[in-house]
Amino acid sequence: MNILDQDIMYLSGVGPKRKEILSKELGINSYRDLIEYYPYKYVDRTKIYLISELVPDMPFVQIKGRILSFEEFEMGKRKKRIVAHFSDGHGVCDLVWFNGTQFIYKNYFIDKEYIVFGKPTVFNGRFQFTHPDIDDATEVQLNDMGMQPFYSTTEKMKKAGMTSRAIEKLTKTLISKIPATLPETLPDFITQPLHLISRDEAMRKIHYPKSVEDTQRAQFRLKFEELFYVQLNILRYASDHRRKYRGYNFKTVGAQFNWFYAHNLPFALTGAQKRVVKEIRKDMGSGQQMNRLLQGDVGSGKTLVALMSMLIAIDNGFQACLMAPTEILAEQHLQTLKDFLKGMNLKTELLTGIVKGKKRKEVLDGLIDGSINIVVGTHAIIEDKVQFQNLGLAVIDEQHRFGVAQRAKLWSKSENPPHVLVMTATPIPRTLAMTIYGDLDVSVIDELPPGRKPIETIHKYDDQTTSLYTGIRQQIRLGRQVYIVFPLIKESEKIDLKNLEQGYEALKEVFPEFQMSKIHGKMKDKEKEAEMKLFVEGKTQILVATTVIEVGVNVPNASVMVILDAQRFGLSQLHQLRGRVGRGAEQSYCILVTSRKLSKETSKRIDIMCDTNDGFAIAEADLKLRGPGDLEGTQQSGIAFDLKIADIARDGQLVQLARDEAQKIITNDPECNKVEYQMLWDRLKMLRNTNTNWAAIS
Ligand code: ADP
Ligand code: MG
Repeated sequence: MNILDQDIMYLSGVGPKRKEILSKELGINSYRDLIEYYPYKYVDRTKIYLISELVPDMPFVQIKGRILSFEEFEMGKRKKRIVAHFSDGHGVCDLVWFNGTQFIYKNYFIDKEYIVFGKPTVFNGRFQFTHPDIDDATEVQLNDMGMQPFYSTTEKMKKAGMTSRAIEKLTKTLISKIPATLPETLPDFITQPLHLISRDEAMRKIHYPKSVEDTQRAQFRLKFEELFYVQLNILRYASDHRRKYRGYNFKTVGAQFNWFYAHNLPFALTGAQKRVVKEIRKDMGSGQQMNRLLQGDVGSGKTLVALMSMLIAIDNGFQACLMAPTEILAEQHLQTLKDFLKGMNLKTELLTGIVKGKKRKEVLDGLIDGSINIVVGTHAIIEDKVQFQNLGLAVIDEQHRFGVAQRAKLWSKSENPPHVLVMTATPIPRTLAMTIYGDLDVSVIDELPPGRKPIETIHKYDDQTTSLYTGIRQQIRLGRQVYIVFPLIKESEKIDLKNLEQGYEALKEVFPEFQMSKIHGKMKDKEKEAEMKLFVEGKTQILVATTVIEVGVNVPNASVMVILDAQRFGLSQLHQLRGRVGRGAEQSYCILVTSRKLSKETSKRIDIMCDTNDGFAIAEADLKLRGPGDLEGTQQSGIAFDLKIADIARDGQLVQLARDEAQKIITNDPECNKVEYQMLWDRLKMLRNTNTNWAAIS
């Protein structure tokens, strides 16, 4: 048996009880699991700082000195703050505890020399260390300590005494127990040119580094390896898929496309739109199935690109469909397409949940007999009952509501899988796109149509309503319309609804001179429709809504977006909402209203929103603030990934490097049968077998 497969219970210091905790809390069951449980940070324990050298905002540091005296402060009932005044001869600072008086007096003594380790903070003008690590100075061999690794643990683990320190001890025991060299998992022709250290060396150094350089080299090697196999998996999947399915070959750009271009196109395409249409044309005429992700900020004109792509399909004798996440959006899309296609002899129909009875049958028949060229709709389109004569292109708007499974369902709608164009206004940073949508090719519209004025974003506190209302009034008097968005928290829809209703009534009193519409998710579609229509037609000036208006709604005359309790929204959601305005020629405004009490992170979000309109910059910031796991779409993408050491947000360059290397392998050995790559394919197979997330896409 490979020693790494050994049950963790048999490692000295573990035993059955700790094994259970390790297994439950961290999923660690074997030696391998433990050795692959990497530290999340290191602290340099080779350097001792003087207290006089401390400055605010330092990371963890250590100092060496003596306790001068203890002092106790009462803090309410049965609670005490214990302070030890500590000096190293160059300055004085405080060590602070909020409980455990007995323990402290029993273990720490005045005038004995200690090494204190912790994060210095400033309190009452003096540096203090709260609940620091304290070691007897005579017992610590400083040079031996090197870099101290820190491991994440859970509350339950801490209660059972399994702190980061305890894990550190276990990994060190384990490392010393593995005498043989751990097998290599990357071939020489990858490790050598990239100067990667061996897997064995990396595994030892990641847990037991002696220097900063050690940690860097070990991390580089292990992060690269992890990202490399993720990319190899995705690219392998995409390549296999391409070889398995042939795509429809749309050779011609014909009458419909050309007529549209010459007569119906109401404005010149932007450079980015032209480029993207070209990319799509090339894809659909390559003989292989297109799987393309079209990213473009809100208002960048994706619908038009979709329409022109659909016209290419029609010119080649095929049908096309456009799917939207909501009924309102589907109907807007239908209207938009119909306007664009005026005077052209094409049949465009709607298929959503509200298309029923005779009309529904008509649409279904029209799709089968091929008389309908374009169908626009919601999920309803991918129901099994819906059959096409020959579906050649499926456009999916706002992909994060349609997972990989739904995409696959589309493929069964025709003999060959149709070309797929996925559009999203939630810009995904490149490195993340390469990972979660790694099987898709990516096109980007990075240019807005000319003449758009950048939206001005303003932060207001909720006690500044007077100036807010004055601003709204001014804009409406200029002939504009206004959105006012209330937040929705899922846990208590009832309360939310009450908030919205009360808010609506209150606003009615504030603005008796204006007409208002109201929409929320709990309304019947018909009512929603009617209210929305009033706003679209300009009969109401204010639309009070929950986030149901988040995606796609297009009312160019609306120039003000007010978001109440903006602190409750994530960055990408705020950006989406803001994208509802700024669609006409007028200067538009987005007003973020928050309470005065904001967490650091919330303030940052609001600042970012006020600073930039650039969706990509916002997506990057979002990724860094929240981490990829929380990003909308990550879970549903079907290519979930649980990285142990790499971080998509921070290791962007490495993602690219890993992808380039993986691509080389796929190109050189498309059939997976070359001897020199066998080790890679074996390892990939092993990873697919042991990791459910990886298997999901293969
Ligand atoms: P999104 O990318 O958010 O889906 P839309 O397709 O809804 O954006 O386009 C936003 C608005 O910009 C629409 O009113 C559309 O007609 C208009 N538009 C699209 N392309 C251009 C262009 N090249 N020049 C001017 N306006 C354009
Ligand atoms: Mg759109």
